[in-house]
Amino acid sequence: MEKREGRKFVELEWVCPNCETRNKGSRKTCGSCGATQPENVQFQRAADEKIIADEKALEAAKAGADIHCGFCGTRNPATATTCSQCGGDLKEGRARQAGRVLQAAPPPPKTLVCGNCGTENEGAARTCKQCGAALKQEAPNLQAFQAPPAPSAPKKVNWLLWGGIGAFFILCCIAFAAVFLIPSKSVKGTVTDLEWQTETAVQEIRAVNYSDKSGNPPADAYNVSCRTESREICEEKTVDQGNGFAEIVQECRTESERFCDYTVDEWTTVQTYEMSGSDNFPVYQEPSVSSDQRVEKTVKLMSVTFSTSEGEKLYAPSSVGEFQQFEAGSVWTLTMNAVGGVMSVEK
Ligand SMILES: [Zn+2]
Ligand SMILES: [Zn+2]
Ligand SMILES: [Zn+2]
Repeated sequence: MEKREGRKFVELEWVCPNCETRNKGSRKTCGSCGATQPENVQFQRAADEKIIADEKALEAAKAGADIHCGFCGTRNPATATTCSQCGGDLKEGRARQAGRVLQAAPPPPKTLVCGNCGTENEGAARTCKQCGAALKQEAPNLQAFQAPPAPSAPKKVNWLLWGGIGAFFILCCIAFAAVFLIPSKSVKGTVTDLEWQTETAVQEIRAVNYSDKSGNPPADAYNVSCRTESREICEEKTVDQGNGFAEIVQECRTESERFCDYTVDEWTTVQTYEMSGSDNFPVYQEPSVSSDQRVEKTVKLMSVTFSTSEGEKLYAPSSVGEFQQFEAGSVWTLTMNAVGGVMSVEK
């Protein structure tokens, strides 16, 4: 963790559990009903928070966690020695919890209607612009003043949600199977057209240069030159000071990535020879190669066209052996799926 000079603070707020009024964090008692802020009512971030510039407020923010009087419970600043309410010795008191990282306030409602005079106020307002009455917190924000769950608490699995997602996924699989994998009908087809393409690649070992590759170079690489690029990733956190204010702390970490230039000797294609035909016996070009070269042979296409009562159907055999069974003019039984794709072919 890294703290910059010129510490930054914002004022928090708390919701009175007695009357639901939102109070500024610096207030020790509710502006509406006068109740003191209980120890268990936590501070939360205001929707309209600003960086504090006022010297007195800054001083209060830096003073440390407030102390709840051990006799009457009133919040007192860390610098006080006796309770402002009952005069009790604050040595008997308890410091407020501090150090929590606070989440941003949920967006305020567009408007808040005054319960006293019915005037519409801005959603972030704390008091009515017409009559000055305290505005009550809207229901969705109320949960914010309850203590957040302990971070170590095991997360509950929402079985209903996951069950729903699972059921939907299974239905999708069934629908997919019904359309593509379940045979829907069979038709007779005559082989009318055959087509194939092959490729012969001549390869030799060549030095291949790589540049700016992320990660580590392969073990057999040479002419290796690497550099590390670092960048700083910073994140702002709003930390409860336990006195109605929060400090904005910047946390930074450095991420590094390695980039390398290198050369590797690899089998590299230096020339390709293609052949094609309209029968069911694919053949390859056989170029003469030198002793330090090799050839790689691949079938690029095998296709059988059937003429059926449903129109022309294409089928791609999975091996040369299967392809060679389709003599021109022979008749086969084609099993098709719901969208008319050929699933299998039998004599
Ligand atoms: Zn109140
Ligand atoms: Zn007291
Ligand atoms: Zn009002």
